[in-house]
Amino acid sequence: MTESNFLKEHNGRLMWHPMTSPQDSVAQPPKIITSAEGVSITDIDGHRVIDGVGGLWNVNLGYSCQPVKDAMAAQLEKLPYYSTFRGTSNDAAIELSYELSRFFAPDGLSRAFFTSGGSDSVETALRLARQYHKLRGDSGRTKFLSLKKGYHGTHIGGASVNGNANFRNAYEPLLPGCFHIPAPYTYRNPFNESDPERLAQLCAAALEDEIAFQGANTIAAMIMEPILGAGGVIPPHPSFAPMVQEICNRNGILLITDEVITAYGRTGAWSGARLWGLQPDIMCTAKAITNGYFPFGAVMMGDRMIEVFEENPDAKIGHGYTYSGHPVGAAAALACLAEMQRLNVAATAAARGTQLYEGCLALKDRFDVIGDVRGGYGLMTAIELVRDRQTRAPLDGHRALAVQEACYEAGALIRVSGANVILSPPLVMSEADARGLLDALRVGLTAA
Ligand code: PLP
Repeated sequence: MTESNFLKEHNGRLMWHPMTSPQDSVAQPPKIITSAEGVSITDIDGHRVIDGVGGLWNVNLGYSCQPVKDAMAAQLEKLPYYSTFRGTSNDAAIELSYELSRFFAPDGLSRAFFTSGGSDSVETALRLARQYHKLRGDSGRTKFLSLKKGYHGTHIGGASVNGNANFRNAYEPLLPGCFHIPAPYTYRNPFNESDPERLAQLCAAALEDEIAFQGANTIAAMIMEPILGAGGVIPPHPSFAPMVQEICNRNGILLITDEVITAYGRTGAWSGARLWGLQPDIMCTAKAITNGYFPFGAVMMGDRMIEVFEENPDAKIGHGYTYSGHPVGAAAALACLAEMQRLNVAATAAARGTQLYEGCLALKDRFDVIGDVRGGYGLMTAIELVRDRQTRAPLDGHRALAVQEACYEAGALIRVSGANVILSPPLVMSEADARGLLDALRVGLTAA
């Protein structure tokens, strides 16, 4: 058996792929990616395509970011691992906390807690939010609020605040005390409201309502993506997040922004908090912090949190990961921070994001199968596919997957999630790359 046949034979048979059923992996074998360069990936059969997914919203600097690779290799030689648990530390992690504190200063966040990825970052935020209230003697504040359609990773806490039944039902019962507010999703919402600003007010009113119903003094935190990502790229009206901030502040509820996707430039701003003018108490980050080259995350904390932990002699946190502050991850993150600022990827995300969004809007005029196009804030764009524009019935899954396959043949990897085509390419893509992605989409959509 050739190596290639060996890999194809075992792909999906012995390896359990995330977010699929074992049957899926056999019926539609996952593409085996064997190399990558710039913003393109190449599969085992030598087929090279533009990566419209950016790895998984994380390879913001593309696949050929030499300074990051060099920094990781040098760190592996110097100190491949040392823990940051009580009693030890490492120089790369300390340096990174310093750089992150400067980077997130405009968001009012100065202290970093390191994790191994986005789900860990969310779990850290939820746990520390509860501990914060306990330390203040407000131990009745244990509940969490979040948005329907929100995605907060897959740990039990994160799944509990998740707003998508697909990631919850099989794992019920989840954490008690988690309540979900309607998302400001203009295309579909329980209020039948098509005006984004009025919808933002209705969703904010629903939040106020839920707080009054639960009792503000029972709620620890509200966790929210500044722009909902995995739920189908749902940018709220600009008035929404500031209203949420004001409601949380007024009720003593911590605001956690889950910026696992939105931090580090993807929205065209350096953070979602900065995009909407927020000062969250906690910010979850991961993904692009290491450009996907190392599993890593950073939870950033604001002064209100830090003061309570610093001033309380019982504030020891019973929380941490073997790989918290991993020196190779920290070295990768330091190099990424330097590169993303040197290349000003927030600005390229804004420019390419506009190009892609406008290109997708133009496709809507050509293809009836497109019900909605969302984006306009950096390189986060979604096309929602429908069977019928009048009824807005979602396109069947197999037809949406046919679009994904046809796109791939035409030169771009896109990701279909339910009836949404999600586009989250590397932020360093050129104008020609964005045109190539749109060209492939145009071909792919004919397969719907
Ligand atoms: N939070 C958000 C907003 C995410 O988009 C994701 C992943 O896509 C996560 C958390 C979980 O991150 P990870 O898959 O690294 O655990």
